[in-house]
Amino acid sequence: MKSLLFSRFLLLLPWGLIVILLLETDSSRAPLAPPARPPQQAAPRRPALPPIYAITPTYSRPVQKAELTRLANTFRQVARLHWVLVEDAARRSELVSRFVARAGLPCTHLHVPTPRRYKRPGLPRATEQRNAGLAWLRQRHQHLPPPQPGVLFFADDDNTYSLELFEEMRTTRKVSVWPVGLVGGRRYERPVVENGKVVGWYTGWRADRPFAIDMAGFAVSLQVILSNPKAVFKRRGSQPGMQESDFLKQITTVEELEPKANNCTKVLVWHTRTEKVNLGNEPKYHLDTVKIEV
Ligand code: UDP
Ligand code: MN
Repeated sequence: MKSLLFSRFLLLLPWGLIVILLLETDSSRAPLAPPARPPQQAAPRRPALPPIYAITPTYSRPVQKAELTRLANTFRQVARLHWVLVEDAARRSELVSRFVARAGLPCTHLHVPTPRRYKRPGLPRATEQRNAGLAWLRQRHQHLPPPQPGVLFFADDDNTYSLELFEEMRTTRKVSVWPVGLVGGRRYERPVVENGKVVGWYTGWRADRPFAIDMAGFAVSLQVILSNPKAVFKRRGSQPGMQESDFLKQITTVEELEPKANNCTKVLVWHTRTEKVNLGNEPKYHLDTVKIEV
């Protein structure tokens, strides 16, 4: 009985060895075979989005960090946005420097103080800071060959910006415009559009302005900024509320403006203003035992 089993085993052994050998060579060959891959399709080449440069003048006050936080939370969600923060100060403050380092978006931190004689009620604000932003942009791009895609807009630190606004301004060819909410003593101001062209202004304040529009109501292509190297915000001869008109006059005409936001019928940005905070109960003595940045 045992010998019968043994002879069967001997009979089957060569076949077993052959099967093992075949399996072995098969698996050793497997890696050499090209892995099955779907035929390579050329990914459609999408042109890169033009960057948006947001120039924000900012100054030290109790609500500054809160305002900048609100702004960063919006800007962080916008693709290819470069934030140019310009402090109204003789030097970069620690608060803003720390903030910028943790903002989580591309950021350039500049500073220039407003001369004391211009720090008066009724005079335009942030002229020097916006010009510093313009100078930085021109310096960065002037030696590069055209075309230089890009869009610039002036984003005050206390306004409210919808994400849709950035989609609209991204396609600015020269100078684009749109309505601004809560400004000029009205619920909104807007460029009046007929047949795709700006023909006038719906405004409650100084309708005689050549461009009756708030700083938050327009964007300019980088190309226009570079080809008008002298266009800046003026101190001399500028009347209150004329900053926008004085600037836009240097780079465009009303006929040339590109209406955005569904022919200027949608409000995508609001000229919100932050209430002055009440710090009437801040102690003069017996301060808190820890120093906390607010
Ligand atoms: N700003 C500034 N220095 C000042 C006052 C204002 O840099 O002395 C900035 C401010 O942070 C804001 C912009 O200039 O980004 C416009 O100022 P504000 O919002 O006070 O003006 P308004 O809303 O009245 O036009
Ligand atoms: Mn404001």
